[in-house]
Amino acid sequence: MSVAIIGGGWAGIACAVELADAGRPVTLYEAAKQLGGRGRGVDWNGIRIDNGQHLMIGAYGETLRLLHRLGTAHLLERRPLRLQVPGFRLALPRLPAPLHLATGLLLARGLSLAEKWAAARFMQALQAIHYRLPEDLPAATLLHRHRQPPALIAKLWAPICIAALNTPVEAASAQVFCNVLRDSLAGSRADSDLLMNRADLGSLAGDAALAQLGPRVSLGEKVTGIAARPPRMLKPGALVAPASMPAGLSDAGKDAGATVETRACFTLTGPEQSAEQVVLAVHPSRLPALLADLPEMADISNAVAGFTWQPILTLWLRFATPPVFPFPMLGLGDGHAPWAFERRDLAPGLVAIVMSADGPHIGQPAEQLRDEYLDLLAQALGPLPALLDWKTITEKRATWSCIPNLPRPDNTTPVPGLYLAGDYTAGDYPATLEGAVASGVKCARLILQT
Ligand SMILES: Cc1cc2nc3c(=O)[nH]c(=O)nc-3n(C[C@H](O)[C@H](O)[C@H](O)COP(=O)(O)OP(=O)(O)OC[C@H]3O[C@@H](n4cnc5c(N)ncnc54)[C@H](O)[C@@H]3O)c2cc1C
Repeated sequence: MSVAIIGGGWAGIACAVELADAGRPVTLYEAAKQLGGRGRGVDWNGIRIDNGQHLMIGAYGETLRLLHRLGTAHLLERRPLRLQVPGFRLALPRLPAPLHLATGLLLARGLSLAEKWAAARFMQALQAIHYRLPEDLPAATLLHRHRQPPALIAKLWAPICIAALNTPVEAASAQVFCNVLRDSLAGSRADSDLLMNRADLGSLAGDAALAQLGPRVSLGEKVTGIAARPPRMLKPGALVAPASMPAGLSDAGKDAGATVETRACFTLTGPEQSAEQVVLAVHPSRLPALLADLPEMADISNAVAGFTWQPILTLWLRFATPPVFPFPMLGLGDGHAPWAFERRDLAPGLVAIVMSADGPHIGQPAEQLRDEYLDLLAQALGPLPALLDWKTITEKRATWSCIPNLPRPDNTTPVPGLYLAGDYTAGDYPATLEGAVASGVKCARLILQT
């Protein structure tokens, strides 16, 4: 059965690799000239950078499996979790769980004993309910109910929430926040490790997938519509494939005496192709337009049309000589403040400063933002080398706002043979590479089961 995957982000890539490995005929249609979607490489004055600084953790099981399969997992640098911002440092030592968290909290710098105790109490309370809340609510409300002191929220919980969910703690889903804490801070020592890509995201996934999938990828191919013809029961005597049906799509004629069910058939406009199964792996904002001709999908389409979006801004700085970082990832302040990443893997002296979620920085002139962030960086690192070049990249719809009780659709749909993949589909994680990859793998497995 032929499968068309629409969208070559990490979800579409994972789905295509899984199906191709199982020997299924698959075509991956990607509107852009490269694979990778929101996690891709970008050319900039002779070097290749990421469209936005990303961070992974050891708990990204499906992502790690995909990168091993693509032969690029060695491009990740694994470090024990360390969160360092001015006046605060939490480092998890190489000890088995939960000792690593207990020791890390005990030795954390910048927290009073009462704050450390409050943090440990909070994690214990979540563990006692297996990180499942009776009802979803804003993460800030959950923290207040557990009497977390404001300084602890500002130094620890709010930065984790906004970095992981790309949604401020006041608006973020407490349940998804708990899921993230379960797999990071409270996960096994290996799960809580930070994984930093030491090559651009294109080399990590998109380019490697293109090399392996070869002619099964159709780049620069925007799908503009999908029409479906559901499976049909054909009675004896009617067992002749209609002329309009693409060759090979009918079971008709196999057994002249029996009633047979023809397979579903989808026709795609844009590439003008047909397929028996379709995986829609586009950005959720693109979903309603693509589903317009499928009335059975109206509920899903309407639910996704209600999503709102959060931006992520990355400032790329190229210095004459590499600034010295105490750790490759450094917070530049409390709460909403940006994080700086040392990226000497892409070019000597390269630094990425990433700022999550919406805020006044998004509307600021780029030069002003550059100067403000350079000041913050100098406060953290001391005098900086000469700046050679710089660039900002703002992804306006980097992620969906991860708010409480968001109606995230399943991977299966009311249309037989049509599947949804992407970071927004039902799952434990916020909009992340892991959520995207896991959804792509899940769709592939559902298809292989049918
Ligand atoms: C700046 C930034 C920083 C981030 N930081 C992190 C991080 O630190 N850690 C983390 O885990 N996650 C991070 N994320 C989130 C992560 O990148 C996304 O969750 C993930 O890449 C989503 O993948 P996807 O395949 O679901 O969707 P997308 O990447 O959106 O893929 C959809 C693809 O479909 C294609 N497409 C759309 N319409 C059509 C059409 N009609 N026909 C054909 N193709 C089409 C698009 O071109 C795109 O390639 C970040 C995202 C951004 C933008």
